[in-house]
Amino acid sequence: MEVVVTQDILKANDSIAEQNLAAFDEAGVYTVNVLGSPGSGKTTLLEKLAEKLNNRVKAAVIEGDLATSKDAERIEKLGWPTIQINTGGGCHLEANMVSSAMKNLPLDTSNLLFIENVGNLVCTASHKLGERLRIVVLSATEGDDKVSKYPPMFQKTNALIMNKADLLPYTDFDVDRMEEDARRLNPDVEIFKVSARTGEGIAEVADWLVAKRETWFASR
Ligand code: MG
Ligand code: ZN
Repeated sequence: MEVVVTQDILKANDSIAEQNLAAFDEAGVYTVNVLGSPGSGKTTLLEKLAEKLNNRVKAAVIEGDLATSKDAERIEKLGWPTIQINTGGGCHLEANMVSSAMKNLPLDTSNLLFIENVGNLVCTASHKLGERLRIVVLSATEGDDKVSKYPPMFQKTNALIMNKADLLPYTDFDVDRMEEDARRLNPDVEIFKVSARTGEGIAEVADWLVAKRETWFASR
């Protein structure tokens, strides 16, 4: 019985996500769901990406958090229109939260939307929001075994951004093992090794995002 209820909720979420996707397509906005654990560096990655993306895209951001607007305040400083969603303790964003938030964003003058999800590797994976692309941030300090321990998250992502690469010498993180696990689950996954702190590898991620957006835009 419990399982049926959960499936129904997910089905309802998926149908709202489809509507969001149609609205984003109509507006020419390429939407990226940014996932990862708390502290993996999602917000810092966006800050660093902004330096590489600013002249090439018109970005907007939806920031999902349990409480506070600390991350949204950081992103707003980048000059990108930002909307905060507070989930009131909820551990993931849902499509209906995004459909409300998007009404307050200038979609007509944006062409790329980042949705920074709540820090969580579990239920965020099963909730579509209306995104065209998913990226998961996994930091060196979390351990390479996260990939095999949370398979749905890594199966469903387009890219795995291994962050805090500058800290690798101080950890037991095995990059080869992480890559093997990720490709076993998801043969098409793009893997980037970056440090959002030092800026290493960020240009490659920015180039990839711009190319993905252009390919999508041309195929519409
Ligand atoms: Mg954050
Ligand atoms: Zn949740």
